[in-house]
Amino acid sequence: MLDASLLLWATLTGCDTVERFRGPKTAFIGDSALAYARAQLAFGPRVPGSTGHRRAGDWIIAQMRTRSDSVEVQAWTHVTTKGDTLPLRNIIARFRPGVQQRVLYLTHWDTRPTADQDRNLGARQRPILGANDGASGVGLLIALADALKKTPPNVGVDLLFVDGEDYGVFEDWADTTKNKDVLIGSQHFANHLSPSYKPIFGVLWDMIADRSLQIYQEAHSVEAAPEVVARVWATAKELGYAKTFIPEVKTQVTDDHLPLIRKGLRVIDVIDLDYCSDGGINCEQDERNLHHTLQDTIDKISAQSLQIVGDVALTLVTK
Ligand SMILES: [Zn+2]
Repeated sequence: MLDASLLLWATLTGCDTVERFRGPKTAFIGDSALAYARAQLAFGPRVPGSTGHRRAGDWIIAQMRTRSDSVEVQAWTHVTTKGDTLPLRNIIARFRPGVQQRVLYLTHWDTRPTADQDRNLGARQRPILGANDGASGVGLLIALADALKKTPPNVGVDLLFVDGEDYGVFEDWADTTKNKDVLIGSQHFANHLSPSYKPIFGVLWDMIADRSLQIYQEAHSVEAAPEVVARVWATAKELGYAKTFIPEVKTQVTDDHLPLIRKGLRVIDVIDLDYCSDGGINCEQDERNLHHTLQDTIDKISAQSLQIVGDVALTLVTK
């Protein structure tokens, strides 16, 4: 009842909190991004070491080979704290590889082996499908590659798909010994950077397809690269997306931008952690949140949200 009356109020006053969408602003195609997310879910969970993981990785490489100017694969094995050996791959697709001025976009392509936030205790040992947490960022980058293939960017663009982000235990970034077997691919990439690689800025796109998308600024990003945060949020505002990209700091997230920041790269995290089952916008700490649950499925994400984020991402490298 309360929800219904709030909805009515929002409709009457026009003060709706979710973006009123008026169609694409760029050549980016949100429907394609959603289709690429769906294609990944067809492989099943993409847990490092699984068949679905290997096949999805092969598929991303094949997608990039048909779109980008060059594709590099970093392959290595990681031995976990429990002694398991994981075959991992980072995939780097470059547009205009000879251009000095570059922008780095990254996302993780693996999915979490355990639904440890699921309300159903019996589900917590099962792997998630990762529609939003995994597939959405990959769908975004592949659809961006579609657009960049048709119209090359003004700068060099590197699309980085990192592996092993979500495998283990997130504890405390201040004490790295407590973070076990997470952010593995971004740490590997950061540890093998060419000294001459200095992108003008970078953006990590993570969990960006929630149907009720509201993206607040992330605290580590604001601290490490405030000018990049300002640039991204200003671009969103210019495109008319001020209700989605809200210029306020809300959360601090341990994510793949941190290993790169630590190597001196100016990389921010664009993420919406309020992934709510009821379409709400403020559930990070409660049971409505679908993050790391079996309910992170394709019906919870939208082409419209991908369109908004894709318009921003494409505009940043083409305007
Ligand atoms: Zn995750």
